[in-house]
Amino acid sequence: MDKKDYYEVLGVSKSATQDEIKSAFRKLAKKYHPDVSKEPDAAEKFKEAQEAYAVLSDESKRKQYDQFGHAAFSGNGGMGGAGGYDFSGFDFSDIFGEMFGGGFGGFSGFGGSSNRARKGRDSVMTMNLSFEEAVFGCTKKVTLDMFEDCEDCDGKGGHNEKTCKTCHGSGQVTAEQRTMFGTFMTKTTCPNCKGKGKSYERVCNTCKGNGKVKKTVTKEIKVPAGVNDGNQLRIAGAGEAGINGGPNGDVYIEFVIKEHQIFKRDGDDIYLELPLTITEAVLGCKKEIPTIYGNVKLTIPAGAETGDRQRLRGKGINGVNSFGKGDMYVIFKVVIPTKLSRDQKKLFEQLAKTDLEDGTEFDKIRKYVD
Ligand SMILES: [Zn+2]
Ligand SMILES: [Zn+2]
Repeated sequence: MDKKDYYEVLGVSKSATQDEIKSAFRKLAKKYHPDVSKEPDAAEKFKEAQEAYAVLSDESKRKQYDQFGHAAFSGNGGMGGAGGYDFSGFDFSDIFGEMFGGGFGGFSGFGGSSNRARKGRDSVMTMNLSFEEAVFGCTKKVTLDMFEDCEDCDGKGGHNEKTCKTCHGSGQVTAEQRTMFGTFMTKTTCPNCKGKGKSYERVCNTCKGNGKVKKTVTKEIKVPAGVNDGNQLRIAGAGEAGINGGPNGDVYIEFVIKEHQIFKRDGDDIYLELPLTITEAVLGCKKEIPTIYGNVKLTIPAGAETGDRQRLRGKGINGVNSFGKGDMYVIFKVVIPTKLSRDQKKLFEQLAKTDLEDGTEFDKIRKYVD
């Protein structure tokens, strides 16, 4: 039987990149995979594609193939009845893992991804801070469930280490894959030792073989100065336990900051609304006002109106990711009195007899308003 050209099988050019080769194979595998395909010659097509991909995705094998054609792989004694190509050592699991989400029906020989070392899951916890704690930083205690190496077995998961009998220490096993379209060999992670190459005569009771134990730990967390609502702080390794020897996940502490009674925060800037009496606004005044760095004297000019603002440079927050301090804005609010004493009322009435009208606003409207 004449074998088809590998490039033709995948439908790619001789100069195709690895990405093109991978994506072409993925398309064919989806179309012809015997578990999902209804095409009559699916098995044959799938096998062809698999073989072509195994060669072309490996740069050194691809070079051999470009030079010698199919002759490069025949008669090497590897796989008699499997159609000429030795699949051992070729791991399709990444591509099939992507396609089928890891669970891989009739082709468990391709699996193995479930035994890989993986990082544990991250988690998020919230931490409440007062306005001042966020602005100036603080130290807080948090209680975390940490997964630490088991002390009884030094994190190994068992006692009396020995070489794994199943894989003879290599951590991999070669599985013969018999399918309707032929037999071939695949290498997968050893199911007995999960790739470690070692096993133990006795599983550790303390950690049930996981090598890790959950410990409730109280940690002191240094909250840096200037954090804002929603900022997160990472505590490396405090998340869920890693899988198959992978590192633990991380915990992210998310800050929830309580509002201040008088200060409003916008990024690194602070806003303070300052009420003024009518006379303070009209005549101007001096006031001692609070900032986050202590009180300062503020001169309010005569004629201040509601909404006028005064900037206090550098009296804002030194944000956790900022280079300098923000500013503080004092915003005036003139409060019109609603309750007046008899004396006050008299004074206002006297004032009303004087000519207070000034400026174009009154000129403009005078002929309409009596
Ligand atoms: Zn093993
Ligand atoms: Zn243990």
